[in-house]
Amino acid sequence: MPQLDRSNFKYNAKVFEKTCLWCGTIYFASRSTAKYCSATCRGYANQAKAAEQAVPYDETEKMISALLSENAYLKGQLQRYVTDNETLRKELERFQSNGN
Ligand SMILES: [Zn+2]
Repeated sequence: MPQLDRSNFKYNAKVFEKTCLWCGTIYFASRSTAKYCSATCRGYANQAKAAEQAVPYDETEKMISALLSENAYLKGQLQRYVTDNETLRKELERFQSNGN
């Protein structure tokens, strides 16, 4: 639970007025490095961070399109080998029929 009331701390305790990075609530913390008003807000913020760190949709799209163009290139190469092979086979047939 966020500490909204300074009087919940000892009168001489060092407290810091902070703004929760998740919900924006202004609260009091005993640590200057506190970022969130409650464990709930910290949990939500960590979840959001994890979701952000997952591969973004854009990146997935880029990977797919890179794979598609690589695939197209390889198909082109394969087609060239098939054509070369066909040419060689015909030459071989011609050579064999001349030999007879
Ligand atoms: Zn909060």
